[in-house]
Parts: sequence; C-alpha cells; structure tokens
Amino acid sequence: MSVLDNYNPQTIRENIRVIRENIEEARQKYGIPHKTELMAVTKTVPPEVVNLVFQEGIFLLGENRVQEYQGKKDIYDLKEHNGIVPQVHFIGNLQTNKVKYIIDDIDMIQSVDSLKLAQEINRLAAAHNKVMDVLCEVNIGGEESKGGFAPADAVSLLEQLSSMESIKVRGLMTIPPPVDSDVYFGRMAELFNTIKDRNIEGISMEVLSMGMTHDYVNAVKFGSTIVRVGTGIFGSRTYR
Ligand SMILES: *Cc1c(COP(=O)(O)O)cnc(C)c1O
Repeated sequence: MSVLDNYNPQTIRENIRVIRENIEEARQKYGIPHKTELMAVTKTVPPEVVNLVFQEGIFLLGENRVQEYQGKKDIYDLKEHNGIVPQVHFIGNLQTNKVKYIIDDIDMIQSVDSLKLAQEINRLAAAHNKVMDVLCEVNIGGEESKGGFAPADAVSLLEQLSSMESIKVRGLMTIPPPVDSDVYFGRMAELFNTIKDRNIEGISMEVLSMGMTHDYVNAVKFGSTIVRVGTGIFGSRTYR
C-alpha cells in the first residue's frame, strides 16, 4: 500500500473539470471580463500526484511550507508543457530567515505580510540578480490568528514597497474569515480598486488572489483573478 493509493487520477480530473465549470458559470453570471486562474494548492499532496494537474491544464501551484517544497520541487514536472512553463507561488506564512531557501525556486510570493519580510525578499532578490513578484497579504477580517496587513495600512505599506528595486508588487492576497465571505470579498474588491485608482508608481494591481475550496465561486463574483484550491482538487487532508 503506497500513499499514492489514496489518490485517484480520475477523481482529480473530474474535480478539476467541475471546478472549472463552476468558475466559468460564475464568470458569466456576474459578467466578469478577466480570466480567473485556478491554482492547485499542494500541501500534504505527494509530488507525483501534484504532477497530474499539468495534464489537466493547471500550470500554477501554491506552496505553503518551505521545507515541504524543498522536498518536492525536484520531483515536480516543471518543464514546458505545450509551450507553458508551470509557475509556483509561495502562499504560506513565511519567516524572514527562510526566504533564502525559496528565492531561486519561486515565481511569486503571495504572502508578504510585513515590511521586514519585504525588505529581506528585496535584499535577497537583489543578491540573486532577480526581481521577485509579490502580493501584499491583507487581513481583511482583522483576525488575530491571521497574518496580513490591516486594510488601513495597505496604502502606506505599498508606497514603501514601491521604492524597493528588486521586488515588484503585482496585487493583493487574502484569506478571509470562513463566514460571510460576501462581505469580506466585497471589502477586498473595494480596497483593490481604491489602490488601483491611486496609480502608485512602481506597483501594479493586476492580481487579486482570493477564494479557496469552500468559497471560490463567491471570490470569482467579486473579481478574484486567482482562486487557490487544495481540498477541492485533491480531496480532504484529514486522513493523510
Ligand atoms: C490550504 C490553503 C488554500 C487551499 O485551501 P483548501 O480549502 O484546501 O482549498 C488556499 N490558500 C492558502 C493560503 C492555504 O493555506
């Protein structure tokens, strides 16, 4: 019995098909003009199983844990697939002293939740001759247990990040409270548009990363450009 036996490729394929259908339906129903990308969130899923999503046309992975990613990245099939190179975004809580382990192997850090973290990413990116794309994580529900900036602090933070030469802010990310997602996604959309309208030099607001298995349809409705889905694709993590 291998851990791979807990996963059925057919089920994963069907899950992805249904999620895509739901996203499309929501986009049409709410007249969403931009595309909404489906990210596969890989935590606890064996890399051999994660590789199945490339066959289904998902080319965006979300990683939560530095150590887990280090153990999996060489098994991921990150070569070009019909002209598309899969991208890997870091979406988990990131300690400043761990940035060095992912700086070369990650395409975007979505979970920038402090100025100190942004400074360290900027410093290391410069040392590695790259510009790192980042999102600013917003604690839209004001929850103690969650990371991210208070919405009221977002603009001043972004102004500080805009002057850092080796990071490029692409937008916002959030994990809202599990209830009333309409309210919180609505507030995120408002914040996103407010910041966009300010045209802060050196930052762009093109990515709004929000929505997980239980609320991605609602997130699409409020303009999410990336929904991050784990359980909905690979099944429950409870029994792994
Ligand atoms: C785990 C996780 C997800 C996906 O959650 P599911 O409920 O399994 O879809 C999305 N975003 C972040 C930041 C996560 O940690």
